[in-house]
Amino acid sequence: MIAADSIEETYAQMREMLRGVVPEVELQYKAELVFEINRLKVERDALILGHNYMEPALYHTIPDFKGDSLMIARQASETDKSIIVFCGVRFMAETAKIINPTKTVLLPSEKAGCSLAESINGADVRALKERFPGVPVVAYVNTYADVKAEVDICCTSSNAAAVIESLGSDTVIFLPDEYLARNVARETGKHIIFPSLMKAADPAPDLDYQMIGWHGRCEVHEEFTVEDIQDVRQQYPDVVILAHPECSPEVVQASDFSGSTSAMTSYVEQTQAPRYLLLTECAMGDNISAANPGKEMLRLCSVRCPHMNRITLEDTLLSLQKTQYVIEVPEDIRVRAVRSVERMLAIG
Ligand code: SF4
Repeated sequence: MIAADSIEETYAQMREMLRGVVPEVELQYKAELVFEINRLKVERDALILGHNYMEPALYHTIPDFKGDSLMIARQASETDKSIIVFCGVRFMAETAKIINPTKTVLLPSEKAGCSLAESINGADVRALKERFPGVPVVAYVNTYADVKAEVDICCTSSNAAAVIESLGSDTVIFLPDEYLARNVARETGKHIIFPSLMKAADPAPDLDYQMIGWHGRCEVHEEFTVEDIQDVRQQYPDVVILAHPECSPEVVQASDFSGSTSAMTSYVEQTQAPRYLLLTECAMGDNISAANPGKEMLRLCSVRCPHMNRITLEDTLLSLQKTQYVIEVPEDIRVRAVRSVERMLAIG
């Protein structure tokens, strides 16, 4: 976060940190926005949280805390500020409201959704529970409140395997990301089935399964292919490739490391490779590059999340000025959803 007493000082700090990452022509204009947001944040007693996928001129300048879904959910649960401004997408802001309901939670863009969260709703979960009675249900935190209200526990990409193990059950329902589920199943040696992908004419599923999945996908991570990896390795044989577990199992297997956004950040910080390629939302490569000027990050920059990309400095300023857009979760849903989120936070 930038701490400065004037626009000029804000600009100087941003220039030092973001030179080569953010074009010079943008820095002066963005420094004015950053200075005003940080001033207003104090005046309005607000906390700003920033997900790792925010663009670098926002990510490195205004969030009080930044990180992956689990890290910023923790900060949302612990703050005593009156307002939480969530620079991320709707399901993340909803999670902040679920765990800290007395706060005003703001999302700077109404349209910051998520293809994964939209792939499933509460009625889908109830239908699965009827079909597999008594089987505990785990939901990735990338879901809306009505889904969190129906499940036993939430997880993130960093703790999915630990959450499943914590249930001590022979079989679990794991929703909604098909690829994360397949990757966790491979990592833990479990056999997974996908009833939602089966057609009426398909033979009955094998009865020897330990995970039941859903067909949701992240529209960003499903774009990466094994051919992308082969092409980059051909050009840069010494590249170290890191894949988010929302990528397909084939892509994860062809990579050198797989982990959450925070795990990928730590990996780059703690290793010394000639160059790295991150298979995830491409703003993250810029953010790591700005924080680690000595590391060379390759880019597959056609892959930006259209939802995360909607959160801008301009809209964050408007959010603080106009108290928009306020996130609400109906209380009957919230009280059920908070149990699954708190169980996840207790596991860490
Ligand atoms: S990157 Fe994927 S999972 Fe994350 S918000 Fe965008 S669409 Fe959803």
